[in-house]
Amino acid sequence: MKTIVNEMKVRLRAVSENESVARAVVSAFVATLNPQVEELSDLRCAVSEAVTNAVVHAYPKEHGFLYISVRLYQPREVTVEVSDSGVGIADVEQAREPFFTTGIPGERCGMGFLVMESFCDEVTVKSKVGRGTRVLLRKCLKP
Ligand code: ATP
Ligand code: MG
Repeated sequence: MKTIVNEMKVRLRAVSENESVARAVVSAFVATLNPQVEELSDLRCAVSEAVTNAVVHAYPKEHGFLYISVRLYQPREVTVEVSDSGVGIADVEQAREPFFTTGIPGERCGMGFLVMESFCDEVTVKSKVGRGTRVLLRKCLKP
């Protein structure tokens, strides 16, 4: 059984200004584990992609919120959950394919999930159309 050593929850308006806020608060929190610079920057990139997705895709019509929940486990494991209560994803498997995007061509390239996967040990996506999306990033830090 993994033991939680610390946890944090943040609620932010899903607007682009909060992308940098999300990165900053998550890295400040995870920094308490003294991760390597590269590990922290990997996590920042992954969080950035998940948060940007909530900002760009989750709320096409109204304003909404995104929620970030960070948990630190012993020994040296981090999970970051980014969720929204937006439109959701009809086909998660398809959405995770490289180059798949419903965004504006030229603006989005459909690489967000791939970036998250390459910078984390595990990426879990759960989504329901009309209910929202939940992305769980898991990263193990070096001893
Ligand atoms: P990029 O991240 O490269 O700018 P992208 O955001 O389209 O482009 P992904 O991050 O891989 O690419 O996401 C793929 C697709 O999954 C998106 O185009 C969108 O249709 C859907 N998606 C991702 N996150 C969400 C979300 N939080 N809410 C609704 N749809 C989402
Ligand atoms: Mg994206």
